[in-house]
Amino acid sequence: MTAHRLICDLQGLQLFQLPVLTDNYIYILYDKPSHQTAVIDPAVAQPVLNFLESRGWSLDVIWNTHHHGDHVGGNLQLQERYGCAIYGSDYDHDRIPGITQTVRDQEEFAFGSWRVEVSSTPGHTLGHCMYHIPAADILFCGDTLFGLGCGRLFEGTPEQMWNSLLKIRSLPGTTRICCAHEYTLSNARYAQSLPTYSLGLLNYVAELQTLRNRGEPTVPTQLAAEIAYNPFLQADQSPMREAIDLPQTPPAQVFAWLRTGKDDFRG
Ligand SMILES: [Zn+2]
Repeated sequence: MTAHRLICDLQGLQLFQLPVLTDNYIYILYDKPSHQTAVIDPAVAQPVLNFLESRGWSLDVIWNTHHHGDHVGGNLQLQERYGCAIYGSDYDHDRIPGITQTVRDQEEFAFGSWRVEVSSTPGHTLGHCMYHIPAADILFCGDTLFGLGCGRLFEGTPEQMWNSLLKIRSLPGTTRICCAHEYTLSNARYAQSLPTYSLGLLNYVAELQTLRNRGEPTVPTQLAAEIAYNPFLQADQSPMREAIDLPQTPPAQVFAWLRTGKDDFRG
């Protein structure tokens, strides 16, 4: 896959999406007024190099959400070409290739005239973080939240991941969920297997299926849709808890039950 697309253009802030490997997405931000560019989680370098060169743009900075190879694989080649800065969480300072600046929970920095907020979101990994541009409704959430799903728990506990998901759920419903993988339809099969299955979910999945049939991404999804249909954001909600017969169980344990169910799901 080499096609890229422009997701949005807000007052000169352009967000592009590059599908790479089997199901990864790389995001590129270009701020027209300042001519700054940022790449989020470059799994590989070449498609990013091709894209930037076709426009005559340089690269100022890479924002990494976590250290996994399919998020940092292009770091060094891009840094060698452009001398760009590389941001990642302080926890990952020795496992993100080429990292030049560590960031912490609630830290803020500027990209052009845009304010970017960092949130620590442990669970998938312990160093996982997100980059949020509130004024543009853009969230780069890596492998924490996916369309109708969430990341596997490789390093963190269910409590940590649940708290990370609550951070996302507290954002405005208009937030674009720019996650790093196209897993939505696979996640939909699990969501549809749960007793909370609804006509609303069925219709939503049908819309997503139509996009995929046309070869288009389902990502970014909107947070409002995730709140409505993503089972992993419903571990503290009565309809979910009652449907799976865990009405008194703490939300983090309900989340753990849902996550284990997905790990074991063959649908
Ligand atoms: Zn990962």
